[in-house]
Amino acid sequence: MATPNLDTSFFGHPRGLATLFFTEMWERFSYYGMRALLLLYMVSPTGLAFDKGKGAAVYGMVVSLVYLMSIPGGWLADRFLGQRKAVLYGGIAIAVGNFCLAAPSVEMFYLGLGIISLGTGLLKPNVSTLVGGLYATGDPRRDAGFSIYYMGINIGAGISPLIVGYIGQFVEWHLAFVVVGVGMSLGVLQYLADAKHLGDAGLHPAPWTSPAEAAAHKRYLWLGLAVLVLLPLLLYSGVLSITQLADALGVLLLFITVAVFAAVYFGPWSPVERKRILVIFVLFLVAALFWSSFEQAGSTLNLFADEKTQNTLFGFAFPSSWFQSLNSIFLIAMAPLFGWLWLKLGPKEPSVPAKFVLGLVFVGAGFLTLVGGAMLAKNGIKVSPLWLVLTYFLHTIGELCLSPVGLSAMTKLAPAQVVGLIMGVWFLATSVGNYIGGRLAGFYETMPLDTLFGAVGAFAIGAGIVLALFIKPLRTMMGGIK
Ligand code: GLN
Repeated sequence: MATPNLDTSFFGHPRGLATLFFTEMWERFSYYGMRALLLLYMVSPTGLAFDKGKGAAVYGMVVSLVYLMSIPGGWLADRFLGQRKAVLYGGIAIAVGNFCLAAPSVEMFYLGLGIISLGTGLLKPNVSTLVGGLYATGDPRRDAGFSIYYMGINIGAGISPLIVGYIGQFVEWHLAFVVVGVGMSLGVLQYLADAKHLGDAGLHPAPWTSPAEAAAHKRYLWLGLAVLVLLPLLLYSGVLSITQLADALGVLLLFITVAVFAAVYFGPWSPVERKRILVIFVLFLVAALFWSSFEQAGSTLNLFADEKTQNTLFGFAFPSSWFQSLNSIFLIAMAPLFGWLWLKLGPKEPSVPAKFVLGLVFVGAGFLTLVGGAMLAKNGIKVSPLWLVLTYFLHTIGELCLSPVGLSAMTKLAPAQVVGLIMGVWFLATSVGNYIGGRLAGFYETMPLDTLFGAVGAFAIGAGIVLALFIKPLRTMMGGIK
């Protein structure tokens, strides 16, 4: 869909990259600002005063849904809207959803969360596709373009908890959600003003190949709209409780995973392609496990920061949500180092499965480190913030070994006809991981924290060791792809 783009006006990249960089920066500003407060707001006596089990269930559902919605969001853009409109509508929905959160009513809160999930599903996958659309096939700047874009993600994600967290925890919860909505609105205005730099990337949906195909997709669309109307009705009439809905999502995720893999696996593939699909399946499982530990940043680790950590710096008190910025700050600092390291290692660069082992080991090591903090906190003392700083440092190393690597491995291992679907599979791993990581916060009060963190850490490292045993066969199954 790209017209060859020889423009080099944004750090050697097409000017349109700046448009998308800032759009995604504001979207992540809004997402991570909202997420930093979400669970704290739900369980705080000055917020919604939910018990932690219910808070964890709603939190797990929301952070899972925002990523799960990437699958219908990508489909809607491909088939009906084109990426350009999908990003615009998504941005508007996210802003509106956050303004709903700012209303002091539980009904508006749930409505807002639903709208934010849909909006993120429309925006997040499609803005990434637009980045790809800026480069002609074979343009060597593509990977570097994505690295710059990943910086945009982390600038938004890093700044936001500092501002939004402070306002929410130290000034007023609802005002913080207004600020999040204003941030996303700025992103939308910027996108509208600068969309002219995107050329014709993502302007039109893919044309229908036959009337029957169009009719089938329109049926799915009606079905989706019916679910959208039915769910709030079931919730508001009390037929379905929010916790039951969260439980149902867990089953649905399992069902979707099995269905997607069965559909992909039994396609018309050559033996080499089928083996690569099996590798994708293994990487999917590992990624889901990795994110289920890593994404506890917004759940158990956030509660630990709030309740068990000394939140003072040189005598000044700071809000516990500030810890949420550490991952992005470390990431911005270390990403260039890792880019350099992989290049420097040359032929000795670890393979994709080996990097996934490192991802699991580092995220596990982060949790095992925090066992020490949790043991000290048992006596009722608030522990040094350095425990969490070290945990997030180790987690970020894990992320750098697994996240960008996985993203590009998906595009390389997938048969060409289903690259889009396999990208959806990657987001599905994030969705499953977020769901588990969110629900684990339900154990926060019922299980000693050193046991909980120790179990998460040991499980991740154990899985890393098992995966290490399979590096060789997995490399063979990758069929020459590095
Ligand atoms: N931090 C990255 C982002 O927000 C990746 C998150 C994820 O896939 N879990 O885009």
